[in-house]
Amino acid sequence: IRFDAVPPLDPKVAAFVGGKHAMLIGSAWLPAASGQALDVIDPSNGRVIAQVPSGDGADVDLAVKAARTAIDGPWSKMVPAERARLIWKLADLIDANVGMLATLNSYESGKPIGDSRNGEVPFTAETFRYYAGWATKINGETMTVNAPGDWHAYTRREPVGVVGQIIPWNFPLSMLAWKVAPALAAGCTIVLKPAEQTPLGALYFGKLVQDAGFPEGVVNVLTGFGETVGAAMAAHPDIDKVAFTGSTEVGRLIARAATGNLKKVSLELGGKAPTIVLGDADIDMAVAGASSAAFFNAGQSCGAGTRFFVHKKIYDKVMSGIAARAEKLKLGAGLDPATELGPVVSQQQMERITRLISEGRSDGAEIVTGGTRAGDTGYFVKPTVISRTRPDMSVIREEIFGPVACAMPFDDEDLDKLAKDANDTEYGLAASIWTNNLGAAHRLAAKIKSGTVWVNCHNVNDVTMPFGGFKQSGWGRELGEQALQLYTETKTVAIRLP
Ligand code: NAD
Repeated sequence: IRFDAVPPLDPKVAAFVGGKHAMLIGSAWLPAASGQALDVIDPSNGRVIAQVPSGDGADVDLAVKAARTAIDGPWSKMVPAERARLIWKLADLIDANVGMLATLNSYESGKPIGDSRNGEVPFTAETFRYYAGWATKINGETMTVNAPGDWHAYTRREPVGVVGQIIPWNFPLSMLAWKVAPALAAGCTIVLKPAEQTPLGALYFGKLVQDAGFPEGVVNVLTGFGETVGAAMAAHPDIDKVAFTGSTEVGRLIARAATGNLKKVSLELGGKAPTIVLGDADIDMAVAGASSAAFFNAGQSCGAGTRFFVHKKIYDKVMSGIAARAEKLKLGAGLDPATELGPVVSQQQMERITRLISEGRSDGAEIVTGGTRAGDTGYFVKPTVISRTRPDMSVIREEIFGPVACAMPFDDEDLDKLAKDANDTEYGLAASIWTNNLGAAHRLAAKIKSGTVWVNCHNVNDVTMPFGGFKQSGWGRELGEQALQLYTETKTVAIRLP
C-alpha cells in the first residue's frame, strides 16, 4: 500500500475541511442543538479529519419546520419551469466544483479520486440535469368515466410534501442526487441526512443549493448518527415520506418507525448479485467484467457481483483470470491518483468483511487470493477470490460489502436450474449474465428475480434506467421516470357536469 503519494490538499479544500462545520436548516448554518459533534475519519489511516454536528430529534424538528414553511410558501408557488432552472443551475454548480466535491468524496469515503472526479461527481450533475427536465413534464391524465351522466375527470400529480432522505456512505454524492433531484423536480421539500462517515460532501452540496438560489428551507442538511437523526426522521409525524438507502436491517427499522403517521416509504437495500458466466461467454470480457463487478468501489456497492456461477469448462480460466487481476490492483489512499482499490469505509466494515472471509475459510471454501486485511494502517482489505463455495455458507448468504468474489462452478446449462440457484437468496437487487447466446440471455433475464439484470456488463447505472429491488432488496424504484412516482401523490378530480 502506498501512503507517500497523496498530493497536498488544494488550499480551498483544506480550508473547507478544516473549517467549522454546521448544519443547513432553513437559511441558517447551525450547530447541533445539543452542542454534540462527531468525528469524520480518513479511512486510509484512521485519522480524524473534521468534526461535524451530531444532531438529534430537536434538530430534526427545526429542519422539518423549515421544510414545511418552504412547501407551504414560496416553493409551491414557483412554476415548474422556474424549479427546472434552479435544478439545472445546481447541476452547473456541481460541475464547476468538481475538484472540491471529488476530493471531499474520496477523502471521507476512501474511494479512488479518479472514480469520484470522472464518475460519481459528473453522474451527480447529470442526475440533476435529467430531473430538471422532468420538472416541467409531470402531468395528470383525463379519464372517460363509466358512471351515468356527463363528467370531466382528471388526475393531478402533486408533491408528496416534506420528505426525509437518509443516505449511505458508499456513493455519498450519487445517492444524494438519486434522492434529492427527483424530489425537487416533483416540488417536494427535503430534510437530508448523509451517513455519519461521509457528511462533508453533503454539507458542501448544501452550500451549492444556497448559491443556486433555492428558497430557504427547500433543502435542509442534518448531520448525525442513524440512531438519533435518522430514527427521528423515520418516526417524525410531520414528514410525509422517507426514502432510505442502506442495510436491509435498518430498512426494516425505518419501515416500522414510519407506521406512526403511515408516511410513504421507499427503500433501496442490500444485494447479493449473482454473476452468471455461461460456457460460450467471451472469457476475456467476462474476466474483466466480473473483476470489476466484485472490486469496483472496494465491493461496497449494493449491486456488486458477489456470487459467481461459472460454467465448469471455463471455470479455472475465469477464476485464475480474476485472481490475476485482483493481485495487480494498486492499493492506496483514495486521494492518491494511482490508487485502483482504496480502503473500505470504516474499521467496523473492515472487521465485518474479514470476519465473513474467515467464516468462509472455516466452512471449507478455498481462498484463491487475498483473504486478509492489507497492512496495519487504515482499513484496507486485500482483494479476495473465494472458490469452492456452497449455497449454505455465510459468504454466499450475507452481504459482505467488501472486495470479495465468491464462486462456484456449474456443469449443466439448464436455465431453470441456474435461475433457481441465482434466486436462492433473500435479496433481489441486481444480476449479470455473460454470454453470446441471445436466447439464453433473454430467457435467463426473465427468470431472475431482481430489479436489474445486466448482460455482458455489470454495475451500469444510467439516470434513465430504474433501479431498485425485488424481495428484501427494497421498495420502489429510483432513477428514470419511475422515481417521480416516489415523490408525487395522484389526486383524482371528478366533476359532474350540470
Ligand atoms: P446502515 O444501514 O446502518 O447506514 C445507512 C444509513 O442509515 C446511514 O445514513 C445511517 O446513519 C442510517 N441509519 C442507521 N441506523 C438508522 C436508524 N435506526 N434509523 C434511521 N437511519 C439509520 O449501514 P452501515 O451500518 O453503515 O453498513 C452496514 C451494512 O449495510 C453494510 O455492510 C452493507 O451490507 C449495508 N449497506 C448497504 C448499502 C446499499 O447501498 N444498499 C449502503 C451502505 C451499507
